[in-house]
Amino acid sequence: MEQNVCGVFCDSYNCRNIATLRIGNPEGPPQLFMQLCRDCAISLVESGEAMGLKAETFVCEHCGKEFDNENSRKMHAIRCSKRKEEGGDE
Ligand SMILES: [Zn+2]
Ligand SMILES: [Zn+2]
Repeated sequence: MEQNVCGVFCDSYNCRNIATLRIGNPEGPPQLFMQLCRDCAISLVESGEAMGLKAETFVCEHCGKEFDNENSRKMHAIRCSKRKEEGGDE
């Protein structure tokens, strides 16, 4: 069995996989890096997305304005001037 890393286990709690990825700030000190297996790295990135680490934008379908969360977009859409121009006379 071959591994690219030197038998380092994943830093994630209760995970016994061999770490294959290093996650951290490239400009930060090395001890702040986490060594993670692929599964844990993916879930870390996904939770990072939830906290807004990865920019995900919600675009108003009427005027194209971007918002960083779904709620802001909805609140805007209620009063969007472009939406009124389109004749949403409900
Ligand atoms: Zn892991
Ligand atoms: Zn809009």
